[in-house]
Amino acid sequence: METVDTLVVGAGQAGLAMSRHLGELRVGHLVLERDRIAERWRTARWDGLVANGPAWHDRFPDLEFDDVDPFAFAPKDRIVRYFEDYARQIGAPIRTGVAVTEARQGPGGFEVETSAGRIACRNLVSATGPFQRPLIPPLVPGDSGIVQMHSTAYRNPGQLPEGAVLVVGAGSSGSQIADELLRAGRRVFLSVGPHDRPPIRYRGKDFVWWLGVLGQWDARAVRPGMEHVTIAVSGALGGKTVDFRAFAHRGMGLLGRAEGYQGGVMTFAPDLQRNIAGGDANYLATLDAADAYAKANGLELPEEPEARVFPPDPTCVADPILRLDLKAERVASIIWATGFAFDFGWLKAGRFDGRGAPVHDRGVSPVPGLYFVGLPWLTRRASAFIWGVWTDARDIAGHIAARG
Ligand SMILES: Cc1cc2nc3c(=O)[nH]c(=O)nc-3n(C[C@H](O)[C@H](O)[C@H](O)COP(=O)(O)OP(=O)(O)OC[C@H]3O[C@@H](n4cnc5c(N)ncnc54)[C@H](O)[C@@H]3O)c2cc1C
Repeated sequence: METVDTLVVGAGQAGLAMSRHLGELRVGHLVLERDRIAERWRTARWDGLVANGPAWHDRFPDLEFDDVDPFAFAPKDRIVRYFEDYARQIGAPIRTGVAVTEARQGPGGFEVETSAGRIACRNLVSATGPFQRPLIPPLVPGDSGIVQMHSTAYRNPGQLPEGAVLVVGAGSSGSQIADELLRAGRRVFLSVGPHDRPPIRYRGKDFVWWLGVLGQWDARAVRPGMEHVTIAVSGALGGKTVDFRAFAHRGMGLLGRAEGYQGGVMTFAPDLQRNIAGGDANYLATLDAADAYAKANGLELPEEPEARVFPPDPTCVADPILRLDLKAERVASIIWATGFAFDFGWLKAGRFDGRGAPVHDRGVSPVPGLYFVGLPWLTRRASAFIWGVWTDARDIAGHIAARG
């Protein structure tokens, strides 16, 4: 059986960041990736996706995008190339095309079954992603005659049959896909749940900058009751604040949370106004906090009072639609941008909660030698994002090195 000190599972950004820091600390390690480096950026995202944060921010500290304007948003293919370049830069010991099928505790650490043989390791780091298994709520039966797919399977408007599209979920993925389809001339309905909606930039500064100075990237816990609140933000088209009213004024039909389906009719909760108001409140709170920060720190940033002016409520918000007859509205496809579940079926060590989330303290499992990196809120809000995972990986590598 092959032996390695530390085995990292997954070669997305989290696995690469781990390799970077383990290498720096001279910890012997191997990274196994079942597909290719940054596979999810290649095949689990739509063609037109660009980073939500600008290139100066959505990167690791020790490699810049040499051909993307720092204030522009890197296309997803450029992000893939970035991570390939990064793997080369650090000389990461990665084996691609090797899946870890099972890992369990063994003498002195873990015994790991892979698609290419068995490996024994002292430390095991799971870097298998914050978004592992696409979730589609079981609302519309498969034989409804409507093409249904998760946002991870959506590529571009041309992939969908002719007709209207219902997008369910209005986080970053759902709102961007709905906007793309509307721009492509489709009739689009968008089911909007509770969301946060930060301004993409304000008073000349990017939202990622504001979240940084306001300490929000470092927030350690999800606000109680807001665990599932998604952030609607978009780097598309040079970066635009997601504005649902503006979508509706361009012809998109906004709906509340999708609740049921019967006989071709979909029903929606009467919560659209509340969800839009919640997003507005979050948006305005960010502006208020930014203004207070600028004032307290004597920053001479240009005023932007127009950022507080909203378009009037469109009819679909003022008088929400609670039932949508999909056939009458010619809805031929539904895209479920409804999030993800964990899938740690391969990991037979450690404890998991009711949602399948591993039990850990800042990425350190109660099982000695077992670690997690890249999970949402692993240590703070930034943990699942490109630049945030880098520091989490550094701390976990430090913990591993300290085990001696
Ligand atoms: C649509 C979308 C847009 C996003 N945009 C941004 C953005 O603009 N900026 C930003 O900072 N973040 C963004 N994110 C969040 C985050 O950066 C990505 O989700 C990123 O892919 C997470 O990287 P990761 O390495 O943690 O996980 P992943 O990219 O999911 O990588 C995990 C890897 O593990 C491999 N793997 C899994 N199981 C096994 C196994 N058993 N054996 C071997 N290999 C395995 C997978 O093949 C995969 O390559 C976005 C997320 C989504 C969904």
